[in-house]
Amino acid sequence: MQNEDSPYYQGQRAMMCSALKSKGLAGDTVLEAMNTIPRHLFLESSFHQHAYQDKAFPIASDQTISHPSTVAWQSELLKLSSGMKVLEIGTGSGYQAAVLCELGVKLYSIERHKALFDFSRKMLAALGYRAELKFGDGFKGMPVFAPFDRIIVTCGAPFVPKALLAQLVEGGVMIIPVGEDVQKMVQITKQQDGSFVQKVLGDAAFVPMLKDRE
Ligand code: SAH
Repeated sequence: MQNEDSPYYQGQRAMMCSALKSKGLAGDTVLEAMNTIPRHLFLESSFHQHAYQDKAFPIASDQTISHPSTVAWQSELLKLSSGMKVLEIGTGSGYQAAVLCELGVKLYSIERHKALFDFSRKMLAALGYRAELKFGDGFKGMPVFAPFDRIIVTCGAPFVPKALLAQLVEGGVMIIPVGEDVQKMVQITKQQDGSFVQKVLGDAAFVPMLKDRE
């Protein structure tokens, strides 16, 4: 029974979402999506009871699932409409990916750890979400499927990768935490003439974006 949703978790989740609402980080559409996704299933069973606190928890390969408030904030900053093509760098547990799928986008996501790639693939499929998942290096993006309407980076990038900028459609938006130990959340919009407008939004703390493991 551990791998199921339940009225207990649904209640915890509704409380988490109303707490997020009062923080003002995201609107109802994003919060309703988060209220649908059983976050506990993306964690090891020992963390299930705590899954609806606004905390990051360890996942496989020494990585962490993002805080719910970070997921809410990044999802909102993307300014999504359903049907958009969205590229995520850092699939991790698959939780942010599930939220994006629930918001009705066509999701592409890259993860550099095989254990997390395997786990997220199984969990997203089990919950009925379809996404194009890749085991590989997020610095390279997914040129085969480019351009993307939106790009979300969920690891701390030492710099903004040029390949990702190139894979953004004109008018497209990228949300990326930039910095080594601590980061600034940056929103980058690609103009119709191909130039970029950058807005620095606030502090963030993500696990680092690292190079290919091969
Ligand atoms: N979105 C995830 C967050 C996981 S933490 C979630 O909801 O759980 C960030 C993830 O980025 C980690 O899993 C890490 O392995 C991955 N990552 C770091 N550098 C990467 C890279 N160059 N390419 C792809 N994934 C990367």
